[in-house]
Amino acid sequence: MENINIKSMDFEIPSDVLEQIQQNIEDIIRNFDIPDANKTDVIKKINFMYSSTIHMSVTDPLTKLYNRRHFESNFEREYMRAKRYNSPLSLAIVDIDFFKKFNDTNGHSCGDYVLRELAYNMLQNFRQTDMVFRYGGEEFAVILTETPAETAVVPLERLRKLVENYNFKFRGQDLKVTVSIGVSSNTKFETPWEMFDDADKALYESKKNGRNRVSSAG
Ligand code: GH3
Ligand code: MG
Ligand code: MG
Repeated sequence: MENINIKSMDFEIPSDVLEQIQQNIEDIIRNFDIPDANKTDVIKKINFMYSSTIHMSVTDPLTKLYNRRHFESNFEREYMRAKRYNSPLSLAIVDIDFFKKFNDTNGHSCGDYVLRELAYNMLQNFRQTDMVFRYGGEEFAVILTETPAETAVVPLERLRKLVENYNFKFRGQDLKVTVSIGVSSNTKFETPWEMFDDADKALYESKKNGRNRVSSAG
């Protein structure tokens, strides 16, 4: 059989995921003596495992949000689309305030709880057409499609307030969490990454001006 060069395809599956696919297939072959009549079921199972693996490769295991890899491909596409059709687009970066201190004081599993709870609240807060990602440790990115600057601040400010007032409760203890947010709605750059840096600069403004706030770039 001819080898398929997965690395040359558009979608790049990380090597640990590939190893897992291989392991799963080997397990099936080892554990089942497959009669002809069952071959369809086995193929269905392999297909199911394959789609689960694809899902895993774009999902952050802690929060179940889309991961950074998925952010990069989606953001690039949405940026190009907005530029080409001259449609509004906003990109927000959400960063938890003083999270290092929070972990040091309350422990890592409490920090993980906050990340999961915040992720869930973010999904509830935005439109179905917006996309929420865990970009890095305690940083989230939100792509707000068809959304100009003045409209973007509405759900972002709502999120900021929601987090500020949310009753985070871990092992019986009430916790206070705030987030700082930076947003850019400028699609006049050459590349999407410049728009990302623009949102990051706005985030820095939020941090500099006292945290727990939303700042717009430009
Ligand atoms: P700032 O208000 O300026 O954003 O300060 P900060 O402490 O939030 O920022 P910094 O970048 O210094 O620290 C981020 C911390 O996020 C470091 C690490 O303790 C925490 N963190 C990152 N990923 C995880 C994770 O998966 N779980 C937990 N519990 N903590 C994480
Ligand atoms: Mg950070
Ligand atoms: Mg932080």
